[in-house]
Amino acid sequence: MSEPLKYRRILLKLSGEALMGEADYGIDPKVIGRLADEIIEVQKAGIQIGVVIGGGNIFRGAGLAAAGMDRVTGDHMGMLATVMNALAMQDAIERRGGYARVMSAIQIHDVAEDFIRRRAIRHIEKGRIALFAAGTGNPFFTTDSAAALRAVEVGADLLLKATKVDGVYTADPARHADATRYDTLTYDQVIERKLAVMDTAAIALCRDHGMPLRIYDMTVAGNLMRIMRGEHIGTIVSDQ
Ligand code: UDP
Repeated sequence: MSEPLKYRRILLKLSGEALMGEADYGIDPKVIGRLADEIIEVQKAGIQIGVVIGGGNIFRGAGLAAAGMDRVTGDHMGMLATVMNALAMQDAIERRGGYARVMSAIQIHDVAEDFIRRRAIRHIEKGRIALFAAGTGNPFFTTDSAAALRAVEVGADLLLKATKVDGVYTADPARHADATRYDTLTYDQVIERKLAVMDTAAIALCRDHGMPLRIYDMTVAGNLMRIMRGEHIGTIVSDQ
């Protein structure tokens, strides 16, 4: 018999860049399809799953502001980019026979449901994959903060941040050959050492609500399921 699962309900944060694959803009159908497969596998194993999707593969407010645009308008564009990504993920999941619902923090009724906490919990209890779009709905935030917020709101046991590296390092491993990977970190260590894990607002929210956070390499197929079985993959951030 396979090992028992360690988690009941998880919140997965996928950056927009994660959907891009090797391209430098947009969505790679192969990459989003593979991620959808992994998410469905975990859901079918009985885990309730919410996903927060970023928008950095299309627009980021800070980048648009640096090019001269009004920051709030840029952030609105960034949030709408996350809605597009969430729709693409909904499509990828449903084409594979899974069930998904995009829930948006910005009202956009012809396209997606509003995010309503109790309804979101109902969806995931029913085995639907809830795709939380439009971040927090507010400018000057990131989808990392949205992920921490939704994880706490829906009562997830674990927040997962999917990245292209296998955890958190002392320095950028691509540029520093002597960088070493942390197995465990505390929230305060992440903040004090200014480690590029998630923005400070997201880490502080996790800390204040005791939400464990695992950073893992999503480019390795099967990692999500391995974590669900309790394997120590990547870096865990908690208060221990
Ligand atoms: N954004 C926002 N408020 C939020 C979440 C996101 O204004 O609560 C905007 C912001 O401009 C951000 C963009 O949406 O740059 C895309 O999100 P993010 O940069 O977090 O995406 P990721 O890096 O995860 O792809």
